[in-house]
Amino acid sequence: MTFAEISAILRDSGVVGAGGAGFPSYAKLNEKADTIILNCAECEPLLKLHRQVLEQNAKEILDTLDLIGKILGVSRVIIGVKEAYHGAVAACESLLPHYSNMSIALLPEIYPAGDEIVLIYEATGRVVAPGSLPISQGIVVYNVETILNAWYAIQGKPVTHKYVTICGEVSDPVTVLAPIGCTVGDLLPLAGKITCADPAYVMGGLMMGGLGSPSTVITKTSNAVIVLPSDHPVVSQKQRKTSVDLHRAMAACCHCHYCTDLCPRNLLGHPIDPAAFMRVASHMKADVVKPYVDSYFCCGCALCEMYACGQGLSPRALLAATKAGLRAGGVAAPKDVQPKAVPKVREYRRVPVARLTARLGVTKYDRPAPIVEQDVAVKKVTIPLSQHIGVPATPIVKKGDTVEVGQPIAAAADGKLSVAIHASVNGKVTAVSEKSVTISC
Ligand code: SF4
Ligand code: SF4
Repeated sequence: MTFAEISAILRDSGVVGAGGAGFPSYAKLNEKADTIILNCAECEPLLKLHRQVLEQNAKEILDTLDLIGKILGVSRVIIGVKEAYHGAVAACESLLPHYSNMSIALLPEIYPAGDEIVLIYEATGRVVAPGSLPISQGIVVYNVETILNAWYAIQGKPVTHKYVTICGEVSDPVTVLAPIGCTVGDLLPLAGKITCADPAYVMGGLMMGGLGSPSTVITKTSNAVIVLPSDHPVVSQKQRKTSVDLHRAMAACCHCHYCTDLCPRNLLGHPIDPAAFMRVASHMKADVVKPYVDSYFCCGCALCEMYACGQGLSPRALLAATKAGLRAGGVAAPKDVQPKAVPKVREYRRVPVARLTARLGVTKYDRPAPIVEQDVAVKKVTIPLSQHIGVPATPIVKKGDTVEVGQPIAAAADGKLSVAIHASVNGKVTAVSEKSVTISC
């Protein structure tokens, strides 16, 4: 298979990063790469999706990595997997002799090991410069489910479903393969009963996810639905307004510097400095601009606000609001910034996931959530046309059309960063808009 052929397959099959921002996978293919890393460092507390998918589908995933590696001409493929994920590690180790140039990098059980920049450092010792992409260091990173989706795409099966874990305040935590466009409410019954009176729904992850509801639609990047009591501190933190966060910072930031001391990007020599930012933001200082502009180098991991800050303040939220304001105002991110040397103390400042889980108050929810082969019963799906970074797909069906699972319903925008979208159920198209296609079963 050629570079052009696999690019077209991934684009036309709708393969995007299965989690995170949904970067189209074909656009990551780059013949300048010398290394491919499989990201199985899943680090959000309670999530166990990728390690299970890798354990169950190791051959398909390693075959696909090997194929992509040969097409790109890389000198090595690294399986980045946490040492603690024994089943996934064993499944990969048993297959390694079948591949040349493939190795396993055993990663520590820290947060955020799954952040690409942290993963690359842990697996290779290379530091990606602030604001740069992994390819600047010759590296392409794909996560586990993305590569499994690439394998299916090569077999002629486009992306129509997403693995989603349902856990937290449910009687039977579970991981299911959900049709894209179904709702959280469609998935909840598969996890048994909800075990609290007034549930809230955290989408994706406790650290980086936001709040959803039973009507929230599952997309190609939905990883998890975590049910928590609505008065849980994690929920309260996610409900707070930025204006309240700023007033709290003014009142309570003691400038202890812990948020910077534990910031994983700062510990890789990047200029993000939440303590310096909080100092200027909480004093409303406008004459010192660097801490504001450096908000571009925050990855949003939330360690500063969910773990480091003893005052319960929210550097991440304020940094995110600042970054959004700078973008809206046309202020570009600084270019060609070089990282400082990685400090020796980094090794001692990495945050163990078990400690983070305890700090979040969710240790009691840390239970198995096995993958079950069970159909999700849905009456309709509403499939968004933009589930990826780039230009939304263009609908190619109209109201009244009958469609089958896997049939294209929207085409990738010509010549733009975009991917196709496919029907996830058999049924009739009942609505088409600029934003979504609804199919009733
Ligand atoms: S950890 Fe909290 S109190 Fe300390 S400097 Fe950072 S925001 Fe301020
Ligand atoms: S969210 Fe906080 S800890 Fe994470 S990169 Fe941004 S400033 Fe650093």
